Amino acid sequence: MQLTNNFWLNEFTRSATAEAKGIDNTPTEQHKMALQALCVATLQPIRELINVPMIVTSGYRGRLLNIEVGGSETSQHAKGEACDFIVEGIGKVGMMRVAERIRDSIIPFDQLIFEDDGDSVWIHISYKRIGENRRECLTARFNNGEASYEVGINM
Ligand SMILES: [Zn+2]
Repeated sequence: MQLTNNFWLNEFTRSATAEAKGIDNTPTEQHKMALQALCVATLQPIRELINVPMIVTSGYRGRLLNIEVGGSETSQHAKGEACDFIVEGIGKVGMMRVAERIRDSIIPFDQLIFEDDGDSVWIHISYKRIGENRRECLTARFNNGEASYEVGINM
């Protein structure tokens, strides 16, 4: 199912973990609508802003998958409100520039998190209902799987 010009539902629901464990990661109707809203309001405008392909590395996590991966119960990934993406071949600095361009645009979002685990970086972005979006920008660094957060997009 195509959600917007450049995004398809299966990009958000496929999961190597779900496949390996035989977990059904089909979104509920409500979560499917949230994914579509995320694409329409936030991801498609970002795609048009940066004009290069975005690879969704983590999208929807249904209840069972979220438990399996140890995700927080309040994770926006479990509500269809968030996704993680990368742009291939632009390196850490390039990814930071993408995060900065989103921050400096007028594109609505709830949270934009530049995530860095030391080996790789990715961008977490979420969208909630109109009027509920905080447009909060954070940087997350991981130490032995523990995330620490700083305000702003920082190297
Ligand atoms: Zn995420």
